[in-house]
Amino acid sequence: MSDDPRDELRDLTRDLRRHLEGMQAMGAYALMGEEEEPAGAPAAALPAVAERGTLAVVREEVGECTRCKLHSTRTRLVFGVGADETPLMFVGEAPGAEEDRRGEPFVGAAGQLLDKMIAAMGWTRETVYIANVLMCRPPGNRDPQPDEVSQCLPFLHRKIEVIRPRIIVALGKPATHALLSTSAPISALRGRFHEFRGIKVMPTFHPAFLLRSPDRKRDAWSDLKQVIEELERIGVRSPNAPKV
Ligand code: URA
Repeated sequence: MSDDPRDELRDLTRDLRRHLEGMQAMGAYALMGEEEEPAGAPAAALPAVAERGTLAVVREEVGECTRCKLHSTRTRLVFGVGADETPLMFVGEAPGAEEDRRGEPFVGAAGQLLDKMIAAMGWTRETVYIANVLMCRPPGNRDPQPDEVSQCLPFLHRKIEVIRPRIIVALGKPATHALLSTSAPISALRGRFHEFRGIKVMPTFHPAFLLRSPDRKRDAWSDLKQVIEELERIGVRSPNAPKV
């Protein structure tokens, strides 16, 4: 490490710029009481696929699922979206109304924020993988019930096994609890890496929560920055690396 204070200043400036760009990309425009939204928001390789199958095979295994009661109220089963092989995966809770209608995860209001979060990290919906704990919408967006989670979770595990991401971002409480088999509050879990079958898991706030509590975007961005840094540390470059 250099003793030159100019190097330190340069590093600090770079970190601050990266932080502010990330906050802005996530739609957090207000800083120190400013309320104005600017016009036009800015928007490694993995181990080889060995014997772990493909997502198409997992999709076949799921079939026209009737394993739990949610099949009778769903419109479409929401399997997941993104790259079959990617170092970065996001896991949410369950499809909402829009997802149920379109058959794709995170396409409603929370999904728009998730897209911004992913873009702020230098990735896109197409270059990461996005899935949920549940593949079918609970009526009225109620919380997932234990029997539903226990039927659906093995398929999330299969997706993770196929994709083998280096890092999973667990969005909110149900995803974090399901992946880490814990019931600790999200506030106690977020902001540091945990592990699921040798894969690093970063719990953070769910985008729907961030829409209701935008003051927590700063915390979420600090979690996501740790993910960017860890990916960099293990030699994974994002397709659109955040500007430094
Ligand atoms: N919330 C989720 O957890 N998942 C979705 O797909 C949409 C909203």
